[in-house]
Amino acid sequence: MKRCLVFLEQREGVVKQASIDTWNRVQELATLRPDITVSALLAGPADLRQLEGRMAGTGVLYLASDARFSRYNPEHYQRLITDIMKREACSDLFFADTVLSRDLAPRLSVRLKASLLSGCSIIEDIASEASCTRALYSGSVIASFAPRRPLSIYTTSSRPTHPIIPSETHISLVLLEPPGFIEATLLPVVCGMVMRESGSDVTEAGIIVAGGRGMGSAEDFEQLEELARLLGGVVGASRPVVDEGWRPHAEQIGQTGKTVAPALYVACAISGAPQHLAGIGSSRKVVAINSDPHAPIFDVADYGIVGDVHLVLPKLIEGLQEF
Ligand code: FAD
Repeated sequence: MKRCLVFLEQREGVVKQASIDTWNRVQELATLRPDITVSALLAGPADLRQLEGRMAGTGVLYLASDARFSRYNPEHYQRLITDIMKREACSDLFFADTVLSRDLAPRLSVRLKASLLSGCSIIEDIASEASCTRALYSGSVIASFAPRRPLSIYTTSSRPTHPIIPSETHISLVLLEPPGFIEATLLPVVCGMVMRESGSDVTEAGIIVAGGRGMGSAEDFEQLEELARLLGGVVGASRPVVDEGWRPHAEQIGQTGKTVAPALYVACAISGAPQHLAGIGSSRKVVAINSDPHAPIFDVADYGIVGDVHLVLPKLIEGLQEF
């Protein structure tokens, strides 16, 4: 019997969709392998009604609702997860591939002496010869990996391949008492947390309107903001845009930025360099607007418009305003 634990990441009490996708993906694997059981761990106070109809399958949800877990503290999170892994004899731990898990998962792999399989785009199976795949060298190579140790930690952008069926859901709740270690913090927090004003998060967005260097200036992003508003999405950016200071680093998408998985990705004046494509591979539909018909972004786009963004965007915005 293999026991899996999925870490549900929350911020300000809102559970990340990427974590729920990870849970549903692991549940999907469990339907193929009856010897797998799946549990989830949520650290910090959160309203559980937000999970209704979004998490499929069967399992236990461990809730450590102590307010001191509401913000990420590597020491507290490591000890909490380690305790549950040991108590439940879990062999596989799953995270969504996020900024938090990129910090936490390597720490845990050392603490638990576990194999770390990070940035998995697809998890095919667990405990098999090739259990997951990930892109290397900015997507030029797709490699298969298998864990070498009895314990494995995966960070994944993997999404469920089939729609979830909430009617089959049976998740029981276990409330965890505040652990004793939380009183004694060995790691002092010397820096504060800076919250962005806009609160929009490209990693969670269902629709992203992203702009590249070809937009021309910071002011030209007002059009992208308007288009994003009309579509109910958020604005993203390529690296040169961030380097120029036109947009904040939190919006950068790609190898050295965020990995995103929206239903719709609109790439405006973005060439489609491998380092940018490395961050958008899980997008369901890609629309590209570029004046160069040979721009590599068209190789990955589902729909393409060859044209000047300064002419195309006002027409798109006008059309949507009338819609
Ligand atoms: P450009 O390559 O300059 O492309 C601009 C595009 O706009 C062109 O295709 C052009 O045809 C089009 N265009 C120009 N004017 C118009 C117009 N008026 N209307 C329509 N189209 C127009 N990049 C990232 O994005 N994210 C990363 O995380 C990242 N990480 C990197 C890590 C490393 C180690 C390295 C070496 C590079 C990284 N890069 C990253 C940079 C990457 O290699 C590219 O340089 C970058 O993605 C290009 O950005 P861009 O498409 O906005 O600009």
